[in-house]
Amino acid sequence: MSDCIFCKIIEKKIPSKVVHEDAETFAFEDINPQAPTHVLIIPKRHVPTVSDLVPGDDALVGRLHRVAAKIASDRGIAQGGYRIVVNTNRDAGQTVFHVHLHLLGGRPMQWPPG
Ligand code: 5GP
Ligand code: ZN
Repeated sequence: MSDCIFCKIIEKKIPSKVVHEDAETFAFEDINPQAPTHVLIIPKRHVPTVSDLVPGDDALVGRLHRVAAKIASDRGIAQGGYRIVVNTNRDAGQTVFHVHLHLLGGRPMQWPPG
C-alpha cells in the first residue's frame, strides 16, 4: 500500500536494520526499542490489523510466530523468555496499520502490561 511506512520498509524505500526476510515475511529492528531485543515481524502483504486476517492467512500467522521464535533463539533469549505483542486498534495503542508482531526480550517483563 503506497502510504504505509511498513510497506515502504519492505520495499527498502525507507531504510531499516533488516533481521530476516523470506518470500512472505520481513523482520527489522524497531526504531524506538523498548527492550534490548525489539524486533518487528511483518507479513509482506499489506494487512492493516489482526481483524483483517482471513482463513487463508492461518499459515502466514504461524510463519510470523515461527520467525519470531527463530530470532529469539538466534539471540539467545528463548530460554530466558520473551514476549510477542500485537497491538490492535486505538485502545491497544496501534500506531502503524500494517500487522506486526513485536518481539521483546532481553530483560524481565512485567504483567499486567500498561
Ligand atoms: P504499534 O504502536 O503500531 O504497535 O507499533 C509500531 C512500532 O513501529 C513502534 O514500536 C515504532 O517504534 C515502530 N516504528 C514506527 N515507525 C518506524 C520506522 O520508520 N522504522 C522502524 N524501524 N520502526 C518504526
Ligand atoms: Zn503496509
